[in-house]
Amino acid sequence: MSMSGEMGLAYQIMDVSEHALYVVDKNDFRILYANPKAKEIFGDGLEQGTCYGNVAVKQLPCIDCPFVVSKEDKEQVVERYLDFFDRRVKVKANPLVWENGQEAVLFKILDSDILLEAKYRNEMQARKEYAEKLRQSGELYDTVVSQLRTMVFEYNYREHTSYTSLLFREKFGLDAIENVDFSKAPATSALIYPEDMDIYKMLFVNREDDFREVTCRMQELDGKVVWYRICIQFIRDAEGNPVRAIGTLKNEDEVTRSHETLKYQSEFDTLTGIPNVNRFYIDASSLIREDLSCQYAVISFDVDKFKLINDLFSMNTGDEVLKHIARSLQEILPAGTLYCRVHSDVFFICTPYTRRGDLIKLIERIRKRIYKNEYSFDINTSFGIYLVKDTAVPINLMCDRASLAARTVKSSAVEFCAFYDEQYRDEIIKNTEIEMDMNQALADRQFVMYLQPKYNLGTGRICGAEVLARWKHPVKGLIQPNDFIPLFERNGFILKLDQYMWEQACKTLVDWREAGIETVPLSVNISRYHIKNNDLVRVWKNLIRKYNIPTSDLTLEITETFFNDSEDLYIVLQQLQDMGFRLEVDDFGAGYSSLNMIRNVPVNTIKIDKNFLDQKLTTDKGKIVISHTIAMAKDLQLNVVAEGVETKEHVDFLKETHCDVAQGFFFARPMPLEDFNRLLIEERSR
Ligand code: C2E
Ligand code: CA
Ligand code: CA
Repeated sequence: MSMSGEMGLAYQIMDVSEHALYVVDKNDFRILYANPKAKEIFGDGLEQGTCYGNVAVKQLPCIDCPFVVSKEDKEQVVERYLDFFDRRVKVKANPLVWENGQEAVLFKILDSDILLEAKYRNEMQARKEYAEKLRQSGELYDTVVSQLRTMVFEYNYREHTSYTSLLFREKFGLDAIENVDFSKAPATSALIYPEDMDIYKMLFVNREDDFREVTCRMQELDGKVVWYRICIQFIRDAEGNPVRAIGTLKNEDEVTRSHETLKYQSEFDTLTGIPNVNRFYIDASSLIREDLSCQYAVISFDVDKFKLINDLFSMNTGDEVLKHIARSLQEILPAGTLYCRVHSDVFFICTPYTRRGDLIKLIERIRKRIYKNEYSFDINTSFGIYLVKDTAVPINLMCDRASLAARTVKSSAVEFCAFYDEQYRDEIIKNTEIEMDMNQALADRQFVMYLQPKYNLGTGRICGAEVLARWKHPVKGLIQPNDFIPLFERNGFILKLDQYMWEQACKTLVDWREAGIETVPLSVNISRYHIKNNDLVRVWKNLIRKYNIPTSDLTLEITETFFNDSEDLYIVLQQLQDMGFRLEVDDFGAGYSSLNMIRNVPVNTIKIDKNFLDQKLTTDKGKIVISHTIAMAKDLQLNVVAEGVETKEHVDFLKETHCDVAQGFFFARPMPLEDFNRLLIEERSR
């Protein structure tokens, strides 16, 4: 039976089947598909696993698997013992050919409903057993309770035993309270503040409802008298006699004290201890309005790629960075300058100034102080400045404007601050619109693949192409990547878009093969967010398997800027290279990595950044730098691609310096797939 033709319909049928169905790859036992019923029984993770891992619950493929042992190519019904349910299950198996021609077996569990029932029964039983174990094991209970840091007590009327949680014992010194009947006031009277004894007794008067609570004072071990809220729940048997009483104690002093805390929290940032934005707004607006003798500036700044720091190094590291920044501000800012942390990595400053230059100098000092730290990565910051001209503008608006300016600062080595300008507002509005549209755009296939050919400088022929995204917006028309990629990198959507583009590239390679066109390798861009955020290796393994294409047909372009000492990156790159992908360092020269650094990174090719080429080529010194870079790359046995090749002069120079491959407007601009196909066919016919 072959399914490749009717896959769509086959999926639909299987999806609604009343039987649990799953398809297993005959070669590696991976589960290629599982219908909803199967997932209900074996869990949602089924499709990510293997049949022995998820269905039979074993480490290795079952040695007695009949479909592998006999390799019989016909339908069979067998009884299989599944550890998962601890019973034998009737299973029907059909050999078939799956999507990419791989041999597979469709398993159908004939008594799905019985299994489901058994599963629920098992789960309920397990839950009961767990609860019972938990109750019995005082130690475990202690751990759980002490982690919650609540005070709990329990009294069992039948067994005349009692339990008090660790925190309770610590607080009140009840080291080994044995058999204290909490229902009898005198037994605990030592703990209750004498004046509140009557309140406490209210807990035990006979009443209809079994939940009671009072607030009274209690004496802690160290003699402190503290207000506590005591809650008790009585549990009764069928005759109405109390079986157990379970109670909790909650320190109500905290609530009283929390009025103080609230005041603190309303004015200070709890993480860094510096003022928060509420406090800042109040202080800054009175400062600006009351002292009209000087000019003020409102400055907003944030950490470049702070999200990346959190992602790559941990939230804790992120927190430490923020504290380091707060300390830096405390150290550097002169008296009379206000500052605060707004949220995440955003800070505001309000400072008097006389000349713009003074502000830049101040910012330079702040940046330097923040940059100087013990972390293994760089902390760069971008600043936006709003010069207060009209003191009637509300302070929050002034801050917004400073933040808008900060967002327009590109994270380059020279630009680190920007003054507010009305035009920024339009840009922000544009970005907001894009963010609203992006998910729909992906679903509607508005992102399209453009290809830009790469040329072998020796032969002058096309030797590859780079996959570049374009957004065909139904209203706004064709949007260029520079207008959405940086935004997607900030909001994480790049992960989805990249995967979509890679899939387009794979499809193209398959189409070429099927059409009998001799393929050229395609280069795809890998946003560095994938390295930690996503399981890059797994995603590619799946794509390769799904489309059944050789990895040598794909080049992965990874930007240089994040090569600085990231272990993870090296490991991932090594794995990808081992899989057979060609790896290319994109935008080489734009960041700070030297060829020396690249020496230890598993890559095949470096791609010299387009700006680098353009600027440097105008001077002789620049030419020397580039030719030197190329020569060194050759020494390291790396191939060299030059991008942004725009002129004949560029081409001649690159040929002279033995650059292997060139890409740029001089040869061709990025183009839709159909145009590229035409170009390719035309060249082949020459
Ligand atoms: P990139 O990876 O450095 O791609 C090369 C860019 O240089 C492309 O811009 C291309 O059109 C442009 N270019 C090519 N030849 C020349 C030339 O001779 N002169 C000049 N001045 N420019 C040239 P494009 O297509 O606008 O893409 C811009 C950037 O957007 C790309 O830079 C890449 O970083 C990013 N990008 C585009 N598509 C994707 C994607 O699917 N995923 C990811 N992660 N990034 C993408
Ligand atoms: Ca690229
Ligand atoms: Ca590039």
